[in-house]
Amino acid sequence: MRRVLLALSLLGALAHAVAAAEPIRLSVDLREAPQHVFHARETIPVTPGPLALRYAKWLPGEHAPNGPVVDLAGLRIRAGKQLLAWERDPVDTWLLRVVVPAGVSRLEISLDYLAPSGGEGFSGAPPASARVAVLAWNTVLLYPDGARAPELAIEPALELPAGWEAATALRIAEKRGHRIQYAPVSLETLVDSPVATGAHYRAIPLAAPSGAPEHVLHLLADGEAALAAKPETLAAYARLVPEAYALFGAHHYGRYDFLLTLSDHVAHFGLEHHESSDNRLPERSFLEEPLVLAGSSLLPHEFVHSWNAKYRRPSGLATRDFSTPMVGDLLWVYEGLTSYLGDVLTARSGLVTPEQARDTLALQAAGLAHTKGREWRPLVDTARDAQHAYAARWEGSSWRRGVDFYDEGVMLWLEVDALIRTKTRGAKTLDDFCKAFFGPPDGGPEVRPYTRAELVAALNAVAANDWEAFFRKRVDELRPGAPLEGIEAAGWKLVYSEEPNALVDAYSSQPDAGTDLRFSLGAFLSAESRIADVVPGSPLDDAGVGVGAELVAVNARAFSPEVLADALAAAKKDGAKIELLVKNADFFTTHTVAYRGGERHAHLARDEAKPDLLSQILAPRTWTPKPEEQKKNTEQGGAQ
Ligand SMILES: [Zn+2]
Repeated sequence: MRRVLLALSLLGALAHAVAAAEPIRLSVDLREAPQHVFHARETIPVTPGPLALRYAKWLPGEHAPNGPVVDLAGLRIRAGKQLLAWERDPVDTWLLRVVVPAGVSRLEISLDYLAPSGGEGFSGAPPASARVAVLAWNTVLLYPDGARAPELAIEPALELPAGWEAATALRIAEKRGHRIQYAPVSLETLVDSPVATGAHYRAIPLAAPSGAPEHVLHLLADGEAALAAKPETLAAYARLVPEAYALFGAHHYGRYDFLLTLSDHVAHFGLEHHESSDNRLPERSFLEEPLVLAGSSLLPHEFVHSWNAKYRRPSGLATRDFSTPMVGDLLWVYEGLTSYLGDVLTARSGLVTPEQARDTLALQAAGLAHTKGREWRPLVDTARDAQHAYAARWEGSSWRRGVDFYDEGVMLWLEVDALIRTKTRGAKTLDDFCKAFFGPPDGGPEVRPYTRAELVAALNAVAANDWEAFFRKRVDELRPGAPLEGIEAAGWKLVYSEEPNALVDAYSSQPDAGTDLRFSLGAFLSAESRIADVVPGSPLDDAGVGVGAELVAVNARAFSPEVLADALAAAKKDGAKIELLVKNADFFTTHTVAYRGGERHAHLARDEAKPDLLSQILAPRTWTPKPEEQKKNTEQGGAQ
């Protein structure tokens, strides 16, 4: 569908473009980032006549028309001293039209990006606190519409607040005080290269196999203390790079920078790029154990994306101009396989124990088992609808479905992994597919789009099977109930018990975490004790409690997660009643819940009738865990 450019020929073409045509000069001033205003000035070479200027609309990795044009403010377009009138396109509102006067060869543009201080989302969500700021260049940039992103040259510069440092995959051309001039890059590389900045900074080089390029973990935090990661945490992150190389067998970047912003005041997410990833976690995520665990799979996930997303990309998502709508049909590969491989690498690196890895799988499986929307909506429809699904309210998510291509992708690719192992009698694994599809030869950033047919052919080359029929059943058709085939094929079963799930505990330690009762009463409570979702057909649904209401009291005592847990335990033990006082808008109602099952947490239990493929999948490839880890694994029934 699109021309495949080798990295070297791309660099050559770009160097030529820079030499032949004057680049856009973009200078961003972050000195007022703590006040949530990013200032930008641009010089754009132009020719006289009508000109359409674009603000990036469809953002790679966000799978949606998310470009935050609503926060573009203070726009001034000048030709010399003359202020030009501009007009927004009435339909494509990310497009601004001006007429360049005769004799004018450059426009000077000044604009502000009003960085939000609250709310959720991705690059349009809170990017700054008083001590850190992450710059996504697309938020401060207008460029001639119709330009192909790999071919338009831009020369970026950045002014930082006094005492701040910056980390990015961009190469520095010159640094003077707090002003950094970066080497010219294509528009595509610029948008692919965010800058994480902050007052507290630590760079940690990560060892890589010999011959591999440099990998650096950059921590930027609201406080100096947050940078003091424990040696064992850093040791596990250091194992991530060799484990990824053992999986893929090659790299597709010139250098890799993990940008990690640690702040309770920025939006928390990860966004993938070819040569870096923009990771944002709560401030103490490298310090305190429950938070370390809660954030453990983020960097592995975004790192895997350098291969599965940036290098190999579904053709419907490989648009490369920020204006062509994206087609998300293959997000169960782009995100689903990345989730699976990210979780596998998290375990192989020792960022989680095998038991914690199984609790992660169990939580994902149980979440899908309690997603009633599976009865009306196939997985592929959630992928096609991704442009809305990310922004959907939590309310109604069990019946609506959400971005299920992540967790169901994990189940799906675990089954593929198990099937390859079984069909080839252990001779081949999904690792072999990863090397064939994402691996050699080594090189710099490159995009190689693929179709579903090409994916199926590549799987067939590893293990002969009717993979198209397999995906039709798993992805395209309705599948009510839990998708447990992968877990079962790997030698385990989904079970529920009162034992806490390690990941649920870790997630509940995060700021603003809610209470997950989906597998018992059938609800998710927000941190403000509002009913954020009710599973249709669950005990709470049967009792007439709906979303949006506030849980005020349990058995006449003011609600807290502990009071509710005690009531669940008493009801299980001796059949005591569970009576809830609920405030729905201005009205209070009492609901008796017919539930005696106690707390229910998801876990995996070993199925001794089958070989334990899961433990083989999760086992490290490049190091040997300490004996106590192996012992723990054996006790859980997961011996090699
Ligand atoms: Zn992802």
